[in-house]
Amino acid sequence: MPLNILIVGCSIAGPALATFLQLAPFAEDDKPRITVLERSPAVRPQGQNVDIRGVGVTLLDKLGITAAVKASTTGEAGVQWVTSDNYVWCEFDSANDTETQRHNPTSDIEILRGRMAQILWRRSQTVTEDKAVEYIFGDYLDDIQQEDDKVTVHFARSGLHRTFDLVVGADGLQSTTRSTVWGPTAEATVVHPLGMYAAFFSMPKDAKQGDNDYRRSYHTHGRRMLSIRPDQQNGRSTALLTIVNETDPRFDAVAKARSSVDSQKALVNEYFADAGWQALRLLQEMHATDDFYYSMVAQVKMPRWSKGRVVLLGDAAHCASHLSGMGTTLALLGAYSLAGALSAHPNDTDTAFSAYEEAMRPHVDKAQKIMPGLMRIFAPETAWGVWLIDTTIRFLVWTRVFTLLMRFKGADTEPDALPDYGFAQPPEYKE
Ligand SMILES: Cc1cc2nc3c(=O)[nH]c(=O)nc-3n(C[C@H](O)[C@H](O)[C@H](O)COP(=O)(O)OP(=O)(O)OC[C@H]3O[C@@H](n4cnc5c(N)ncnc54)[C@H](O)[C@@H]3O)c2cc1C
Repeated sequence: MPLNILIVGCSIAGPALATFLQLAPFAEDDKPRITVLERSPAVRPQGQNVDIRGVGVTLLDKLGITAAVKASTTGEAGVQWVTSDNYVWCEFDSANDTETQRHNPTSDIEILRGRMAQILWRRSQTVTEDKAVEYIFGDYLDDIQQEDDKVTVHFARSGLHRTFDLVVGADGLQSTTRSTVWGPTAEATVVHPLGMYAAFFSMPKDAKQGDNDYRRSYHTHGRRMLSIRPDQQNGRSTALLTIVNETDPRFDAVAKARSSVDSQKALVNEYFADAGWQALRLLQEMHATDDFYYSMVAQVKMPRWSKGRVVLLGDAAHCASHLSGMGTTLALLGAYSLAGALSAHPNDTDTAFSAYEEAMRPHVDKAQKIMPGLMRIFAPETAWGVWLIDTTIRFLVWTRVFTLLMRFKGADTEPDALPDYGFAQPPEYKE
């Protein structure tokens, strides 16, 4: 009997799984029926930069999307650290050789998360001739009930109840699938906030203000960092404002209330108005933008990623945070591993979920290791601390010790670590 699978979330992990399930070697009668549910009304090609590293590059080949992804990169040439008057005091170029690329702040595949999601979503619809995946946009789950051999879910907007054999929660850091199935009490133990908050949005590129092909970053006292990144695809710039704050409870509160964009913007405004450099420009653009996104920076650590017939994937299961630079690669690898495990054990989901975990755990454990004290070091409280870290970085870059240190920020998976599940190779995706 074919599995009837609901995937919650159409970003990176969700549509990647929908594609790999179609490429997996299921017997003709066992080919799964797939439904993907996405809260947003559409996949918008925006968002923050994500990068794809190590084994992620091999997985793009397996999905047949390498050319499309490479044609959609943001074109970030590297990183420039600037002073408040825009003087570049430190610069790294984006590395293009595999040895150093893995440890550089900019990898050579940098793409906006929404653009990557759009390619993956379209890919999942072009793998087979018939439209094998049902997509539902603009709705979300508000209830999940499990019985021995089925899961019944309730769609909040349409009011429909539907029954599936499996539910895959690929709904990100603040996963509703996870909080519904594991319960709100478990959330407090599995989500590990790192005390950092991030706001990002796109804005018009302004060469007169110095916007160029580099990520320009500025940090100042109060543990605040501002970055402007290129987006050559849309001729715009992407702004990222981060702050480390463990004392003001409002940062957490507005992160959890999804609907309160106004209160998120007000809080960011309050803390960044006197940050210097281009803070006033960024805040003005922040108030004007319609693609503002604010999130706490956290890691998700769970003893097991499945419960009954519900399994978690991507950030919902094991968010490593943007500090790892590995979230997108892990989401792709998880989709590959879960599809492989389900095709190897189509009639035994417990065994399939165990095999998926066994394949993924070592990669997740590595990626979640963040250099001890990273945030305290790079986001100092005082002006003196900023001077000290700037001077130290200049010295480390000059002596090339910095490249060595980057190796501790989160190890990558190696291309030859991929098990072969016998997936079909799809034709190259074309838009
Ligand atoms: C500021 C920032 C910078 C980052 N930088 C990097 C980086 O440089 N490199 C990197 O690899 N990663 C980075 N990441 C992480 C990366 O974005 C994620 O790891 C990656 O997108 C994980 O994909 P995902 O599909 O698991 O989850 P997500 O991308 O979070 O997607 C979840 C999807 O589920 C949908 N959804 C949520 N709830 C529901 C619901 N109840 N019902 C239906 N749909 C729902 C959401 O709308 C969304 O589309 C960064 C993240 C942030 C916040």
